[in-house]
Amino acid sequence: MSVPVPDRKATALSLTRWFSDPDGSLVLIRRLLAENAREHVPGYALTLVFMGLIAASTAASAWIMRDVINEVFINRDKTMITIISLAVMGIFTVKGLATYGQQVLMSRIGNAIVARIQNRLFEVMTRQDMAFFDRTPLGDLATRLAHNAQAARGVIDMVILSLGRDVLSVIGLVSVMVLQDPALSVIALLIMPPAVFGVSLLVRRVRKHAKSQFVSTTKIVSAVQETALGIRVVKAFRVEDRMRQEMGKAIRDVEHRSNRIASLTARTSPLMETLGGFAVALVILYGGYSVVEQGQDPGTFFAFITALLLAYEPVKRLARLQVNLNSSLVGVRLMYEMLDRPPSYADLQGSAVLSVPQGQVRFEAVHFTYGEVPALAGLSFTADAGKVTALVGGSGAGKSTTFSLIERFYDVTGGRVLIDGQDIRDVTLASLRDHIALVTQDTFLFDLSVRDNIALGRPGADDADIIRAAMDANAHEFIEALEQGYDTMVGEGGGRLSGGQRQRIAIARAMLRNAPILLLDEATSALDAESEAKVQGALKRLMQGRTTLVIAHRLATVRDADCILVFDKGQVVESGTHGDLVARDGLYRRLADLQFRDAAERAAV
Ligand code: ADP
Repeated sequence: MSVPVPDRKATALSLTRWFSDPDGSLVLIRRLLAENAREHVPGYALTLVFMGLIAASTAASAWIMRDVINEVFINRDKTMITIISLAVMGIFTVKGLATYGQQVLMSRIGNAIVARIQNRLFEVMTRQDMAFFDRTPLGDLATRLAHNAQAARGVIDMVILSLGRDVLSVIGLVSVMVLQDPALSVIALLIMPPAVFGVSLLVRRVRKHAKSQFVSTTKIVSAVQETALGIRVVKAFRVEDRMRQEMGKAIRDVEHRSNRIASLTARTSPLMETLGGFAVALVILYGGYSVVEQGQDPGTFFAFITALLLAYEPVKRLARLQVNLNSSLVGVRLMYEMLDRPPSYADLQGSAVLSVPQGQVRFEAVHFTYGEVPALAGLSFTADAGKVTALVGGSGAGKSTTFSLIERFYDVTGGRVLIDGQDIRDVTLASLRDHIALVTQDTFLFDLSVRDNIALGRPGADDADIIRAAMDANAHEFIEALEQGYDTMVGEGGGRLSGGQRQRIAIARAMLRNAPILLLDEATSALDAESEAKVQGALKRLMQGRTTLVIAHRLATVRDADCILVFDKGQVVESGTHGDLVARDGLYRRLADLQFRDAAERAAV
């Protein structure tokens, strides 16, 4: 965690141990306020004015008790009855309006803070590399975005509310108490030290549970997402029971932790009630004695008791503050853990812009491992400019990894990847990716209109370009036939379109991009003959004049390729044309025989 932690030794030695901050809570709060509250200073200033009014009217309502008792009950003054009634009405109207203003203002500022934090979090997430997304569960990211931003707002609200409303109210009420009867005030304030001690014991335990609660919440969100994304597999393999069990466990844990936190937080109530009760009892004992025996006026005594009782709520809230703050600070810590993440790939200073006059792609002794798993072991090949290079080989041989490295989703762990002689690590990421079009197997479409999905290929493209791309991709015809043509929403993941249609939209997207290098991951799933022919025709047009690397599954593609690279265990073990390789009687021959047989069988059905 990159949140600075104060020097432990220094704080342990300090005399004010109660206010020491061994775990960085104060540092964290200060940072949170500095980064988020600063720009809302005018808003908070106004809030503070409202809070001042609330505190003042609360104090006034206690103060006026003396006159209520002395003027109304003892002196029986009729004019004073009216005046006092009007004053009470005035006091509570002010309090009501001020409370309204304060609440509206704080909600507005709070919502603005949440929105800003969520934007920042999402920005940091999108700047992370593939490895980050490989190891971070979706649920974790979703929970962070929703939960941590709220936690941050909660902490800011708590700090401002307690400092503003509660502290001001307590100051106002204690002033009333001291002004009315200094001796009684000392008695009432005797409860402070034990209260502080009791609360700080609770704080430590809450913190532990809050962290576990967050972890389990993450699990719940992950499980929901997995179930929704993989619902076909879940149903087909009937793993609903297992999903339910796992979910049940996570939900139970969150329930348990929430109960623990609630009961610990609630423990501040009996603590404060009991101590408060003692204080009130002592005051009645001493104050009542003064009134009865020493003839002090009962109004003063009543004003004092009222102030004491009113001070009770804000004091209780202040006591709970530490406990509540600590459970929210867990979320804030996790938020900063994410916000402080440096972008995984920042372009090196002075990175050049990739220039691709030819489009030759070259791997030189490239090594790559995913964490511990070796994927490429000294891979070398050259994909000639403007030619079609087919990648074939068994599953797990390293073909997809090769694509990921060309896109620089990951960095090589050894060797170099060159495009027209330039190491791709020396050029800006944006210029690299602008020169590449990727068409993947699982043609991913966003839940946007057909037009917008194609336009992702080149942001800012005009309608004429989009339609031309769709025509070249054999997609224009079917798009026109859709209910709303190019404005038809494709549904989540393109669910409202057939497999062949989705592929042609993905091809249109790549057409529009018009990049010199094309990475094509052929779909393995069989399409019907007509769609297949249309997709093939579109692909052929797409490949024209580009350097194409294709992970090939179709015989036609392999046969027509200018060069075939046969992958095995992260290396190229054979290369050449279809004719060369068949003649060589090696791995390719065996793979091809298998494919021919499959194809023959399929044709025979
Ligand atoms: P192919 O595309 O030829 O089937 P891949 O390039 O996908 O092969 O995989 C090469 C090796 O890398 C395999 O052993 C595979 O399990 C591993 N691998 C692929 N992707 C990941 C990943 N995201 N995390 C960890 N290991 C991976």
